[in-house]
Amino acid sequence: MAAQETVEHKYVYDFAEGNKDLKDLLGGKGANLAEMTNLGLPVPPGFTITTEACKAYLTTGREPDGLAAQIEAHLESLEREMGRKLGDPQDPLLVSVRSGAKFSMPGMMETVLNVGLNDRSVVGLSAQAGGNDRFAWDSYRRLIQMFGKTVCEVPGEEFEHALDDAKRAKGTQNDLDLDADDLRGLVDAYKKIFAKHTGREFPQEPREQLDLAIRAVFESWNAERAVVYRRQERIPADLGTAVNVVAMVFGNLGADSGTGVAFTRDPGSGAQGIYGDYLANAQGEDVVAGIRNTVPLQELEKIDKKSYDELLDYMARLEEHYKDLCDIEFTIERGKLWMLQTRVGKRTAAAAFVIAGQLVDEGLIDLDEALHRVNGAQLAQLMFPRFQLDHEFQPVAKGIGASPGAASGKVVFTSARAVELAAEGESVILVRRETNPDDLNGMIAAKGILTSRGGKTSHAAVVARGMGKTCVSGADELDVNVPAKKFTVAGQTVNEGDIVSIDGTTGKVYLGEVPVMPSEVVQYFEGELDPEQADDALVKAVHRIMTHADEKRRLQVRTNADTGADAARARRFGAQGIGLCRTEHMFLGDRRELVERLILASTDEEREAALAALLPLQRADFIDIFREMDGLPVTVRLIDPPLHEFLPPLEQLAVNVAVAQERGEDVAKEEALLAAVRRMHEENPMLGLRGVRLGLVIPGLFAMQVRAIAEAAVEVTRSGGSACPEIMVPLVGAVQELETVRAEAEKIIAEVVGDSGVEVLIGTMIEVPRAALTAGQIAEAAQFFSFGTNDLTQMGWGFSRDDVEGAFFWRYLELGIFGISPFESIDREGVGRLVRIAAEEGRAARPGLKLGVCGEHGGDPDSVHFFHEVGLDYVSCSPFRVPVARLEAGRAAITTTGSDSR
Ligand code: PEP
Ligand code: MG
Repeated sequence: MAAQETVEHKYVYDFAEGNKDLKDLLGGKGANLAEMTNLGLPVPPGFTITTEACKAYLTTGREPDGLAAQIEAHLESLEREMGRKLGDPQDPLLVSVRSGAKFSMPGMMETVLNVGLNDRSVVGLSAQAGGNDRFAWDSYRRLIQMFGKTVCEVPGEEFEHALDDAKRAKGTQNDLDLDADDLRGLVDAYKKIFAKHTGREFPQEPREQLDLAIRAVFESWNAERAVVYRRQERIPADLGTAVNVVAMVFGNLGADSGTGVAFTRDPGSGAQGIYGDYLANAQGEDVVAGIRNTVPLQELEKIDKKSYDELLDYMARLEEHYKDLCDIEFTIERGKLWMLQTRVGKRTAAAAFVIAGQLVDEGLIDLDEALHRVNGAQLAQLMFPRFQLDHEFQPVAKGIGASPGAASGKVVFTSARAVELAAEGESVILVRRETNPDDLNGMIAAKGILTSRGGKTSHAAVVARGMGKTCVSGADELDVNVPAKKFTVAGQTVNEGDIVSIDGTTGKVYLGEVPVMPSEVVQYFEGELDPEQADDALVKAVHRIMTHADEKRRLQVRTNADTGADAARARRFGAQGIGLCRTEHMFLGDRRELVERLILASTDEEREAALAALLPLQRADFIDIFREMDGLPVTVRLIDPPLHEFLPPLEQLAVNVAVAQERGEDVAKEEALLAAVRRMHEENPMLGLRGVRLGLVIPGLFAMQVRAIAEAAVEVTRSGGSACPEIMVPLVGAVQELETVRAEAEKIIAEVVGDSGVEVLIGTMIEVPRAALTAGQIAEAAQFFSFGTNDLTQMGWGFSRDDVEGAFFWRYLELGIFGISPFESIDREGVGRLVRIAAEEGRAARPGLKLGVCGEHGGDPDSVHFFHEVGLDYVSCSPFRVPVARLEAGRAAITTTGSDSR
């Protein structure tokens, strides 16, 4: 026929036409309903309208051509199969209209049940239900309520109030006490509410109800809560939802009917067994709404053994088929079991590991698949201590969960006091408005850090994450008064020494001590729990999967560490060397004074004396680290930050000098310091005199560090150890900078190393865009590259690292300019491209050039996959993230599609 010549786009699929792999098109729910249908499970018949139809509707504001006719055709075949017509007055077919996107977005989008009921078919439904008038009118009032709220935006409370009025009139609190007449009255009341808000009568035409409900589900993709949820879960905004139109089955037809949910294993712990809830004489939304109390699923055996056995059989078949934990929704209509939904069930981080291990034991999956089923974010969660919140603890404030974990301790307001109390064996929480590099020792000493300002990339957050220390930042309900040693919150004053508890995962702050449990996974990584002996399914599963990840991964994992203690811990956690030892941290504390002397030196002699005093201290630092990393490479970066960071702030100094002058005190030294600070002041210090530029400007500075490194390596090697230092020059943008530093360094190294057998590599960071773009030239002078993706992101985007998050990132995230801060996860297209170019051009110029990354991204799961794809040799991250990086490097090696394990 001529009219059929153009091939029409297929927008509607019968359940028998789909399968579980069509989630993009049919959404998760539709694809799984199709799969169950094809497995021969009792799924109520129905069809799915594709995500493509939704996308077309959302772009053009109208249903795409052909959709209405396809719905009509599928509806007719559904009617034939059921032997009933939609909304037929004598024997009506009723349908549910349900959303279902590719990724589950629980409760975020819309559903309308009982579509097809009207003033006439309600009577037919009653006859169908054996004269059960109450049931029919209850179903009708539910339709008006859901339809009104979802499709026509009638305020839900109005219906709730009308229901409450009806119950009050009846003198009851339970909707089951309302009889058919009461419900008929309620339907009238609901219709009035509907008409009042919409200016029209409740639609009586079944097909109109259906079309409007479908449209409302399409539109619910862009409902605010759905948009917010997607952003949080990093679900792309352009997927659209499918719509499932399913023949209604009823769990509210009496005591032999009911509805429930079931899990094939415990989604909390992963333990095998039967988990779920059942609610007799009810429809699905009653379970979700928690209106009445459910009973444990096991009770169903007593209520309806036949359905129970059948359900268990289907559960076993589904698990076997999906080879994973499934969650299931079912309804029993007068003794007949119907499967309404299944999907691979969400689970806690612990259950994810335990279940993956069990499935390997059961021969359902192999270890590669087990590794694919878990992820670094889950592992990271398991590595933090947790609060035991069994008791009633109410939070007094909520900030940003900046670095997860749970910590309780005495409040202190200064770094010095934190160190003091910690030395006495106290647990302390360092509370500040915001932290700065001077707080480092206090942060190390503290159990947790709480700030009233700053976001997820504030100094406190980044440093705490690096240390694996609990941190809540930006708790702006706290009024912190450091000089008075107190803060106020919720009308209460907390003084130094009072106890608070902070949850770095949720951002919640509690007064008093909430009991904390240590992480058994960390105990395992620390070597305190033997996985063979441990009576702990989680530890065994983590061990097994980590071992497999290590076998599979191509990327090495190093750590960023600047102390022997951090190096030792990272090594226990599996680090294969140090990828970044930041030497500036070694210039803080009581060494500040020496740095001041260096900066203020007015003659060569003074400068040399200051450097000479620093040399043995640095050497001792390196000896410590080389010993801990015996036999493994240690990349030591020459000093990077602008030197004025080691001097007091200008304003504070100016005030001190003025006050002292006023008092007639001798301020010559302070004046000199103030003059130096003024001289060195920079408008944009991150783009100023730092990194290699310092080494080229301050004679002897880099030389002292190179000598300390080489001497330490020789000493460790002479005493029977094996030190493998790699000297790294920061902030190089041109090969000439590196060549100059290298020439001087090589001379010193040759002189110090002599015949000791120590080999020292010299390489560079690639963290300035120009370096990435001239990597071919730079590689001529570098024995290795390490990507400094923090600076590369800063300079690639032109985002000041320390300022932008608080200033405007929220808006960028809101607008979807990026889905996650590029400081947290590598921006593959932009900054990632610079990495790719530099890797390729560097290796072209120097085949086999060693490539690593030491920016924060080295421990970020998604970024690890990227670095694997680009072909780096290693990633380096903070000690606590080493296991995460190992796991993700293993996952990257077995997948080629990135880390999509949602
Ligand atoms: C970097 O820039 O990525 C880096 C590791 O150096 P820093 O963070 O110390 O600037
Ligand atoms: Mg840097």
